[in-house]
Amino acid sequence: MIDSHTHTAYSKHARGSVDELAAAAYRRGVTVLTITDHAPFTVDATNRLLESELDAYFRDIERARKHYAGRMTILAGLECDFMPDCVDQVQRLISPWPLDFVIGAIHYVPLGTELVKVWDLPRLHESAVLNAYFTSLRELVTSELFDAVAHVDNLLRGVPESVVVERMAPLLPLFACHGVSYELNASGARKSVYCPVTGIESAPGDASYPSRRTVASLHEFGATFTIGSDAHDPVDTGVGIIALLDELQDTGLREICYYVRRRRIGVPVAGLVGQAHARSGGAP
Ligand SMILES: [Zn+2]
Ligand SMILES: [Zn+2]
Repeated sequence: MIDSHTHTAYSKHARGSVDELAAAAYRRGVTVLTITDHAPFTVDATNRLLESELDAYFRDIERARKHYAGRMTILAGLECDFMPDCVDQVQRLISPWPLDFVIGAIHYVPLGTELVKVWDLPRLHESAVLNAYFTSLRELVTSELFDAVAHVDNLLRGVPESVVVERMAPLLPLFACHGVSYELNASGARKSVYCPVTGIESAPGDASYPSRRTVASLHEFGATFTIGSDAHDPVDTGVGIIALLDELQDTGLREICYYVRRRRIGVPVAGLVGQAHARSGGAP
């Protein structure tokens, strides 16, 4: 099982050490684990890795990598915030480190002097927010700074799928063109959904992303995909990954990727799903 998006206590709003995350992933049957704590950033700086912690972060990962050698592959990543005009900042931040995988993520949408958070669900469907989000997303993908883009489908927590599909349409060819993978984020199954019509937010567990229609279209445009649990607690690593891969085979998804030293490695989805079912004794 591949889990390419996980957090530890280095992200401050997540739990567990690198060793605790690795142990939980190993118990769950993860065979390729990429640790992707939130990179230092100017916004909400005390809720992410500090620059002064990066050395210890990569040393912890290296130690775990050696400990699990031959049993589970452990890879070093970062989830970097992206906002327009931050390209030089990200480049400067990531260039000194021995990174396997770098994810670009939009957590804040700049709207004039305001920053709208992507978890501020009642704001997501506003056209000004969507305009700014998709402008940022286009810049993120075309910057070619990142191996993958994180959780675009988080928008589905507050925006109808038809709107997301329409907004994504002009961006579909860019992923393959610029060599940026689209992340399938399994945390959707643990999240709530806000309805802009009724103003009611559901209980956690009602969301289900990614958008199946978007994945099918991206596949037609030759995009590549990564997958991650986005675990912020060791108990969530690996959760929902095989079920999501299994379900997405209907959209045409045949291969999932992970990255070693920033180079993409493809793995057939059917093999991952088949092995997981065989281990659990269930039917494939
Ligand atoms: Zn994120
Ligand atoms: Zn994350």
